[in-house]
Amino acid sequence: MDRKYVIGVDAGGTRVKYGLFRDDGQITDKYQHATDAHADGPAFSDTIIESVKALLLKNDLSFEQLTGVGVCMPSFIKSDTGYVFITSSMPGIKNFAMRDYLEARLPIRIVLDNDANGAALAEHRFGAGRGARHMVYIVLGTGLGSGIIIDGKVFQGSYGAAGECGHMLATPDDGLMCGCENRGCFMSYVTGKHLPERVRLGLESGIKSVLVPETTDGERLLEAFESGDSLANKLIEDMARYLALCVFNIYQMLNIDTFVFGGGLTGLGDVLFDRLREEFDKLCHISFPVHFKVAELKEDIGIIGAAEMAVSD
Ligand SMILES: [Zn+2]
Repeated sequence: MDRKYVIGVDAGGTRVKYGLFRDDGQITDKYQHATDAHADGPAFSDTIIESVKALLLKNDLSFEQLTGVGVCMPSFIKSDTGYVFITSSMPGIKNFAMRDYLEARLPIRIVLDNDANGAALAEHRFGAGRGARHMVYIVLGTGLGSGIIIDGKVFQGSYGAAGECGHMLATPDDGLMCGCENRGCFMSYVTGKHLPERVRLGLESGIKSVLVPETTDGERLLEAFESGDSLANKLIEDMARYLALCVFNIYQMLNIDTFVFGGGLTGLGDVLFDRLREEFDKLCHISFPVHFKVAELKEDIGIIGAAEMAVSD
């Protein structure tokens, strides 16, 4: 029998990446193009359709040899219907029946899901979460979000939006305004997106620092911390404390023992994770082990997760 293939598409805010995988999980070809952040749903989908066809043609494959196409995006998607409500970084892709649109134009099964769910699945199958029955993947990057795996499957919730831990409230009366229209979400303490504002507030409160609001990212923060900068120290302490609170609340609710962290801010390394452990242990008075791991899959995590969605759904 002919070998089967699957395509995983990681449609991010900057780049759209494609991976062609064999049924034994081996990646055989990759392709990527820049994201048109202003495209609407149909225009964005048309680019995916053309790219999928081109990838098959280049590899001398037909749709009959394909099991499915999985697409993960930074969107609020109802994965059982493939309906996209809203997409961060790509404001034109909203209220769009994307799976129906794609399936009407490609003779293949399409699976769509949120990128954190895709990454969770990838780490659970092939990365730091291998062998765990339940797992929470937490992305620490520009934003804060998570994907929840229960009994080996992504937990979607009633409306497909489970795992939005970044919008759980830490200090509702007193915090930065978030895009979700609430104040004091965990997101506002832990993410790259809010670092500039945190630096600005710190400087205004009189803390001396080498940090400049506009240019502060995870890397600059770590450099400043290592040079003994007191504002950098405070920001990392705050980040660890609020992240610990967020993780502790998830643990109390779901009693899941494996947390895998991915995203750009994991570059803070032990500086963040040692403090996270310390803060979490202060809150957790039961001695069962709770494992914190750093994601193992790097830049291919999105395409691996998307391909896995298409075969495991
Ligand atoms: Zn929020």
